[in-house]
Amino acid sequence: MTETVFCYSCRVHHPKAEMRLFLTRRGLRWRCVHSILASTRSTAERDAFGQRQSLINREEARRQAQYSRRLQALALAD
Ligand SMILES: [Zn+2]
Repeated sequence: MTETVFCYSCRVHHPKAEMRLFLTRRGLRWRCVHSILASTRSTAERDAFGQRQSLINREEARRQAQYSRRLQALALAD
């Protein structure tokens, strides 16, 4: 019989070969590679989303600044 370890992430037992020790706030826990990969993937996706969002925000701020500069220039020309 294959040795299994309780996965704190999935709350089920997996074969020990699929398990990795994972450092959590409460200490070391056994966690399966599948759940670790899934969470790092979603972290990467979150990061990509955050980067995209801050790029949009920066672009918007730049546009606003440009617009107010143009208004100022028009006001001065008047
Ligand atoms: Zn698991």
